This record gives sequence, C-alpha cells and structure tokens, in this order.
Amino acid sequence: VIARTNPLLAAAACALLGGCVLLPVLGGPPPRDDDASPALALEGFEDVRGLVHVHSVQSHDSSGTFEAIADAAAETSAAFVVLCDHLRGGPAADDGPDGRVHDVLFVPGAELNRNGGSLLVLGIRKGVDPRVGDAPLVGAIRERGGLAGVGHPESIRLEGLVDADACELLNIHACAVEEGRFALFFRSFFLPPRPFFSSFVSRLPGAAAVYDALARTRPLAALGSCDAHEAIRPLGPLAGAVDSYRRLFRAATTHVWVPAARAGPSLSKGDVLDAIREGRTYAASELTQDATGFRFVARGSSGAVRALPGGSVPLAAGDALEVAVPVPADITILRDGAVTLVARDARAARWIPLAAGAYRVEATFEGRPWIFSSAIRVTGENETLPGK
Ligand SMILES: [Zn+2]
Ligand SMILES: [Zn+2]
Repeated sequence: VIARTNPLLAAAACALLGGCVLLPVLGGPPPRDDDASPALALEGFEDVRGLVHVHSVQSHDSSGTFEAIADAAAETSAAFVVLCDHLRGGPAADDGPDGRVHDVLFVPGAELNRNGGSLLVLGIRKGVDPRVGDAPLVGAIRERGGLAGVGHPESIRLEGLVDADACELLNIHACAVEEGRFALFFRSFFLPPRPFFSSFVSRLPGAAAVYDALARTRPLAALGSCDAHEAIRPLGPLAGAVDSYRRLFRAATTHVWVPAARAGPSLSKGDVLDAIREGRTYAASELTQDATGFRFVARGSSGAVRALPGGSVPLAAGDALEVAVPVPADITILRDGAVTLVARDARAARWIPLAAGAYRVEATFEGRPWIFSSAIRVTGENETLPGK
C-alpha cells in the first residue's frame, strides 16, 4: 500500500533496509508473452499450462475416463496432462494414453506409494517396477527418459528419493486431508464449488521444507498437483462426490516454459519433460485468477536474462532477481525457505541477492495461495554445481 502511494519513497526505504527495490506497476493491461517491457519479457519461451498427478480409470480408486479428463483439461485451458495412476504389485503392462486425446497431450506416468508419501514417475509407465528400491528405481526411470518427482512431500521420509527431478509444492489431496474431512463435508453443503475449493487450498509448509532442502543442489521443478481422483469424497465413496475434474483442475496447475516455437499443436512429451527436467516450471492455483504471465528471472547488470527458474547464476555484483505477476498480488521471495522480501499488492518485485542460495517465489492473490515458482540457484564464487 505504501509502495502504491509513493513508490520512490518505498523503494528508497526498502533499498536502505536490505538492498531490495520494489517496482510496483500501476495500472495498464496484464502482461502478455509478447509484452515489450524488459522486466516481463521471457526471451524465446512461452508459458504453457498443464495438469500433473491426475488419476484416471487406471487407478483402483478413480472412474474418470481419458475423454472426460481431456475435456475438463481443455476447459481449464491446459495443454497437457500427466497421468500418475497408482501402480500396485508388479510392473505396468502398458503406458496408457501417450499422445493426444481430444487435442490434449497425454503424458504417461505413475504414482508409487513410498516412505509415507509417493514417487511420481513422469514420462513413462510401462515396465516401471514398484518392487525396486528408491534409488535404483529412480536410475532406471531416468535411463528410459522418464523423470522422478516427490509426491506428497508434506508426509514423506525422503530416504532414497533425494535425487528427484521435481517436487510438489501444492497438492489438493494433501490440502483436503489437512483441512479435515468433517469440516469439508459440512462446508460442501453451503458453499458453491469454487469458493469451496478456494476455502481449503493452502500452503503446505512440510512440502515447502522438502522442496527447499532438495533445491539447494540441483534444478528442481515445482509441481502443482490436483491429485484428482475424479472427485473429492470427504467421507468416503458412499458420502457423495463434491466435484468433478472440472474445478479440481483449476485448483492446482503446473505451468512449464517451453521454447516459443514448441507451444501449441507442436507441443510434445519431450518438450514437457525437458521443461520439468530443467526446472522451468511453476505451480499455481487458478480458481479465481489466471497466473499466466508470471515471470521470475535472474538478470545481469547489463540487462540480459541470465537464468530462468531451474537455472543457476554465480553471485555477481549488480545481478538482480526479478518477479512479475499479471495482476497485483502479495509477492514473497524466499532464500533456502526463509523469507527474503515481501512486496504487497505489487505487480513486480526485485531483489539483489547478496548471499548464495536457492531463491524461489510464492505469490498470494486476495490472501489465497496462487503461485509457487521453481527455484533459481545463486551460487557462491568457488562453488561448483553438479551437472544434470
Ligand atoms: Zn494423494
Ligand atoms: Zn495421487
């Protein structure tokens, strides 16, 4: 609010306090991918919305058909769906849908219950053997072009999953469990679906702690998982479903940045997996506000973009981390999980890092969780990063 009434004063005060500069953008149209503003342009990349960790008829506890999922995804303007159906017993016999269903790209995947949480297999399903131990399984998944993600990090003991490519920062199933089934059940009677879901989408501190621990040493894709089993049944299957895929999908999305030429009909499984492997993602909850246009970059003092989420930059004088959001929101920049900067009711925020660490962004819209970015790593002078 102060920043709005007197941006120069706020910027000056903030610079004195900690080296940050708030850059609220007042009015104007929402940023688009072709926006000429240097603070918002993400050279050569396009923001593509997708759905990760979706359950279908392939799971024992879901009856959602691929067609129903595709139609609900299209209604959510999601270009891709990564199915993560449960694997029990032995290896899966097939990949399931791998390609387009009703114009929506389906990417195979699986969910394996592990250590109190789950291992999300992204990109492959056939032949994934749930009986294999964590670390060798992750190796085998990568060998075949797939990726490993941490599912339900809020409750997992990591053990052999420390070498993951991705980690949930948002999981609607986890949010529902945290809220309590009785509270949800009663609320479902008097709230319409959208406010109902909004009421329990929450930040998961346990998930954030796991993400921040793993992101220090490697690119780590932030995932927003609807973990949709077609419907959330607060009191079990007999008590009735609260909603179908349609609104669940808006509650948690995963955006990936892909090379601009690859967005649209040419988007492939490889494009989605490359973005996740490199951490070019953010998680969002878009029940009330579209997150498209969100930006987080490291910019050199010359003005060039030096890293996108998932990337790393050496600590250098004058380099800044820049954030932009499509509508005013509360923006938080965290370093290794600790709050570094809060910009309230702002369209943009800027922070000059003075310490190495994994920096990521969380934004809330009207007080509700909205955006969770993957981290950009700022490395110390003599630090060598493991390749990936
Ligand atoms: Zn779940
Ligand atoms: Zn699940």
